[in-house]
Amino acid sequence: MMVTMGLVDTHCHLYDEQFDTDRAEAVTRAREAGVERLVLPAIDHTTDAAQRQMVCQYPDLCRPMIGVHPSTLEEHPEWFAEELARVERDLATPPEGMKFCAIGEIGLDFYWSRAQAALQQQALRQQLEWALEYGLPVAIHTRDAWDAMCRLLEEFRGRGLRGVMHSFCGTLEHYRRIGAVGDFYFGIGGPVTYKKSAVAALLPAMDPARLVLETDCPYLPPVPFRGKRNESSYLIYVRDAIAQHLGLTPDEVAQITTQNAFRLFGA
Ligand SMILES: [Zn+2]
Repeated sequence: MMVTMGLVDTHCHLYDEQFDTDRAEAVTRAREAGVERLVLPAIDHTTDAAQRQMVCQYPDLCRPMIGVHPSTLEEHPEWFAEELARVERDLATPPEGMKFCAIGEIGLDFYWSRAQAALQQQALRQQLEWALEYGLPVAIHTRDAWDAMCRLLEEFRGRGLRGVMHSFCGTLEHYRRIGAVGDFYFGIGGPVTYKKSAVAALLPAMDPARLVLETDCPYLPPVPFRGKRNESSYLIYVRDAIAQHLGLTPDEVAQITTQNAFRLFGA
């Protein structure tokens, strides 16, 4: 019996202005590809309105997060207090129609610059504390900062932290250290389809019960769409690449990762 299992895109920015001319069509294509949930990370106060509008328009499909992205703080350290106050306020009193499923995306990004590394770390620690206070999972962004990330997360070891390492591209050692911190999942996206993919090479050593699918659209398109805009319907290419690397059927990967995503984010 062939049952096509629904998919969850656990990290997508379909509210991005790159979809302003064809968002409805992109949503239709995602549904047709079997994507039954879109988890929408927050970035900062400049993206809240678009994210929330999308949640109100597609309440059956979309689940919003709340948080401040590390790159925002790197670029605008002067926004620090205001951004954290916004997150704190929305957690305490969610705007109408917003049931936040996670705090994210939060994290460390040292790719362009690490001039504000201390500020990024301060914001991350604060938001991890709120995740524990509100019983929410976290969605963590890490770029060129895996060692620093592991060290910071290890401060929280044993406190019941749970969440997802979005677009995981660390080493096996990072995977194990993060797994020892708490109840963590690992987001696999477009890079798993690339020829020289480090995360694809790691997959056989990772527990399938810890994997979730994501596109991070409009960024990180899978093969055969590299260089183009990514979208949630392309999640099937991620599913199929994982299936190939693990010797599973696409449907088995869908079933496992969708169960994982619901366990992580709730309904
Ligand atoms: Zn993202």
